[in-house]
Amino acid sequence: MATVLVTGGAGFLGSHLCDRLVERGEDVICLDNFFTGRKENIRHLLNHERFELVRHDIVHPFYLEVDRIFNLACPASPEAYQYNPIKTIKTSTVGMVNVMGLAKRCGARILHASTSEVYGDPQVHPQTEEYWGHVNPIGPRSCYDEGKRIAESLMMNYHHAHGVAIRIIRIFNTYGPRMDPNDGRVISNFITQAIRGDDITVYGAGTQTRSFCYCSDLIEGMLRLMDQDDHTGPINIGNPVENTMLELAEAIIAATGSTSKIVNMPLPKDDPQRRCPDITKAREILKWEPKVVLKEGLQQTIDWYRKEIG
Ligand code: NAD
Ligand code: UDP
Repeated sequence: MATVLVTGGAGFLGSHLCDRLVERGEDVICLDNFFTGRKENIRHLLNHERFELVRHDIVHPFYLEVDRIFNLACPASPEAYQYNPIKTIKTSTVGMVNVMGLAKRCGARILHASTSEVYGDPQVHPQTEEYWGHVNPIGPRSCYDEGKRIAESLMMNYHHAHGVAIRIIRIFNTYGPRMDPNDGRVISNFITQAIRGDDITVYGAGTQTRSFCYCSDLIEGMLRLMDQDDHTGPINIGNPVENTMLELAEAIIAATGSTSKIVNMPLPKDDPQRRCPDITKAREILKWEPKVVLKEGLQQTIDWYRKEIG
């Protein structure tokens, strides 16, 4: 089996990916700087004979011999990526050059975790891969959005100039066990607030929408994109069922049986108003579509949070 590098492997999605790769017999190197990743997410893998952990930051060059690379290293929650925006930009630019250089030297196939944020606050709905997006290049989200856009550009150019085998996945909001309870994302916030009986903080009027994909569905889509031989992407992977944040808050209150009240807080600047993937390409090319409905995925996630935060 191949040696597979997962950058950001100690994070929420990276750790689930490491699990799946180890399970199917790959040798996995997990590289992480632990900015938002947690040892807890991978502790169960540390003694596995096919798992290796490297503490490293992709902004600094590194040399490994690998057959495949999944590049997930980058903070994903708005609070985390805005904490040190210049570092976020460096991760998606300087870090990306290092990762692409590694792919080129090793002749490794590389999948990069891009995002629905490349579409910004979209004016086309639902978002197809052909849509170029509506991103504020100087707003508070730009360190992440523009970073992910230049990372896609870097990949395309390494592909055309050097024949690097690239796969670009555009991930829409994904949730599940191991999302850091303190990361500030909407599902982690609402579930922890509901379990603790705190107010549920809906930003703005709560009419903005997101489409939530359960982590096991997402990882399956990611593996299918990496394993097929013909398409570079970008391919959207997400759940096309759209919910308002108010609907989400109500669903979480009902699922937890919480007494929490919904309160409205200011809407963050440039918060996208609608987001929903067109997954025609994923259906046709990868024969993929999500299987876990929100109610079921929320229940799994709530069960995990109850153990995690008591
Ligand atoms: P996460 O924050 O849990 O994981 C990111 C991981 O990358 C963490 O372990 C972090 O410590 C590590 N990291 C960050 N900067 C690094 C650096 N410079 N060098 C090495 N490691 C670094 O987030 P996640 O939700 O697991 O997201 C994983 C990837 O998927 C990210 O690239 C993110 O942009 C992308 N993505 C996620 C979602 C989602 O809804 N979860 C949506 C779109 C895109
Ligand atoms: N949000 C909210 N309350 C919270 C956290 C987030 O209403 O406590 C909203 C946020 O304004 C956005 C949506 O939930 O409209 C999703 O936010 P998240 O940070 O999870 O991810 P995004 O999709 O914005 O990157």
